Amino acid sequence: MGPDKYLKNYIDGALVPAVSGEYLDNITPATAKVYSFIPDSDEKDVERAVEAAERAFPEWSNADIRTRFRILTRIADIIEQNLDVFSRAESIDSGKPISMSKSVDIPRSQANFRFFATAILHFSSESHHIPSEAINFTLRQPIGVVGCISPWNLPLYLFSWKIAPALATGNCVVAKPSEMTPMTAYLLSKACIEAGLPKGVLNIVHGLGGKAGQAIVDNPKIKAISFTGGTNTGKKIAAIAAPAFKKLSLELGGKNPNIIFADCDFDQMMVDTLRSSFSNNGQICLCGSRIYIERPIYERFKDEFVKRTSFLKVGDPFSSVTDLGALVSQQHKEKVMSYISLAEVEGGTILCGGKEVEMQGDYENGYFLRPTVIEGLPIDCRTNQEEIFGPVVTIAPFDTEEEAIALANGTAYGLSATVWTKNIAKANRIAERLQAGIVWINCWMVRDLRTPFGGMKSSGVGREGGLEALRFFTEPKNVCIRY
Ligand code: NAD
Repeated sequence: MGPDKYLKNYIDGALVPAVSGEYLDNITPATAKVYSFIPDSDEKDVERAVEAAERAFPEWSNADIRTRFRILTRIADIIEQNLDVFSRAESIDSGKPISMSKSVDIPRSQANFRFFATAILHFSSESHHIPSEAINFTLRQPIGVVGCISPWNLPLYLFSWKIAPALATGNCVVAKPSEMTPMTAYLLSKACIEAGLPKGVLNIVHGLGGKAGQAIVDNPKIKAISFTGGTNTGKKIAAIAAPAFKKLSLELGGKNPNIIFADCDFDQMMVDTLRSSFSNNGQICLCGSRIYIERPIYERFKDEFVKRTSFLKVGDPFSSVTDLGALVSQQHKEKVMSYISLAEVEGGTILCGGKEVEMQGDYENGYFLRPTVIEGLPIDCRTNQEEIFGPVVTIAPFDTEEEAIALANGTAYGLSATVWTKNIAKANRIAERLQAGIVWINCWMVRDLRTPFGGMKSSGVGREGGLEALRFFTEPKNVCIRY
């Protein structure tokens, strides 16, 4: 088990190059150097993957659920036993601190397999009785061949979050990780082979979104698509999948608000707000990027938050003291920096950060940026409306509960929101009115895998997690028996 210089697709149980024989560069963001190569797959590779998945489907979908449980658990065990290998690969590929890969990304990836391996043992369907006349029962059957497409920010974490429930429910999968962070998906193929996953049940095709990804969405034999990524990509996918009546789950972008009331536990709020702003360089769809603070504590918040942000250590992803590693790519760093310039044009004041980090030696060309705090911007400007997906937050004061809710709901997105107050009635009132699929009160990123996960408005359609995922990946069929 370990990374290779030339990655391969995982099709029909074997590791194979793309049909074209072409490769794409894989760059490590901390050094900006090409360090490996990934198959530049196209529709021919996807077709082979789909054919293999179709062949595997009859046996896998009819397998005893304890067989699926055992194999998925074995995959989880292998990831767990290789924590160091997977974590290192994730950090090299994405630029994130090894401390995060080791404590969040990889533990959660194995937990996803374990969670859905056991969930399927407890999954049941409904029955509806018409007294003295008939009984209905609902079969929940696997859909067939399904497509799973995931982004680069939490590579194996989100890839496995889709694949595990799809496999647990008896589907066969054609999956594509992001071309920017393919390595742990490649290691996962090796784990599946070692775990004895029957060939064709899971197929992993590497390559570009517009080519390999699009081929998955276009393929008429793929009956459902579970996608996590940007809102614009989600729109394109929906436009292709909807007329073909494919089942769709879309987990898209966010522009999440934090609402902080003067009566909160200030110290705890400060610790968690720093995390919700800059964890993974702000490259988590759930990061809070618009922070609204009740006016009586605005200045105190601002001073303390800016001071702590300035202390954050940016640099070597493999140092134990690093808080923020590299951004994922040159293009993404430029995008984030363009928003910082835009914020100034729109009248914002940069309170800290806003600059690249001057690095030495191996890391001198890496994509490092100082975490940035901006104030003085209205809700309707582009900086506050568009997803930046980097270490950039805006702060602003508010005076009333009503105003805070209007600000929080004032964008096209609706993924998550965070509320800080000791007044539980107020917290519940606000939670009810927030347009967000996930609301955290006095915490952030506390996750329970059984809960529905997903966004409203432009943040997506459908929910993942727990029963929601098991239901998404099954087709309900009602059977009515008259007696
Ligand atoms: P992206 O949309 O560019 O790419 C996501 C995946 O889709 C990649 O694997 C990519 O190769 C593929 N893809 C791109 N174009 C495609 C096409 N035309 N057809 C099929 N597949 C295609 O997103 P990204 O830049 O990788 O990720 C960042 C985005 O993901 C942010 O907007 C972030 O908010 C979002 N995200 C959302 C969640 C969530 O749960 N809601 C979680 C993480 C990230």
